[in-house]
Amino acid sequence: MVALNIFTVNKNEVISIIENFASSIKFIIGGAGLKGIETEILNLNVSNSIDVVLGDGELIISDLLNKNTRLIPNRHIKNNRLFIIDSSSEFYNQNIDTASIDRTILLNNGVGLHNNLLEACIVATRGCIYNCAFCGSAITRNINVKSRRRSLNNIQQEIHQLLDETSNLSYIMGT
Ligand code: SF4
Repeated sequence: MVALNIFTVNKNEVISIIENFASSIKFIIGGAGLKGIETEILNLNVSNSIDVVLGDGELIISDLLNKNTRLIPNRHIKNNRLFIIDSSSEFYNQNIDTASIDRTILLNNGVGLHNNLLEACIVATRGCIYNCAFCGSAITRNINVKSRRRSLNNIQQEIHQLLDETSNLSYIMGT
């Protein structure tokens, strides 16, 4: 199973990857760029299956990985399923202080940039309070999802942890 994130700019690349590998691999697709194109993804003609998750992914993923769990999708087209995780869902994360990022895949080394600087990124909020017309995260397109913020203490702890774990870190970017 492979999980991929769709942002606005990488939609075509993600679809191409799914179409090339979905006969042998099951995909989970999430990301802020999914809003409005979920039907297009559900309609992809693949022989395996795609789970499309619109909203928080961390609390539903173990059930998606467990074939014996009886999840009821919001929609399905053939073998492809859509799960909408809004504030009415049991998988909605009320407290994003608990949504820590596992950086062991980066060996806690940060991300190298073209100018030889090392960057780390923290996610301090989820959802957006603004309403840009072109954006799937706009507040009026997500009326059942509140914008959430991590607590100041929780963010400070992560910054300290990053500085302890990653030598030569040049800067930390927050979203
Ligand atoms: S500020 Fe605008 S473009 Fe950025 S996430 Fe919010 S709605 Fe989208």
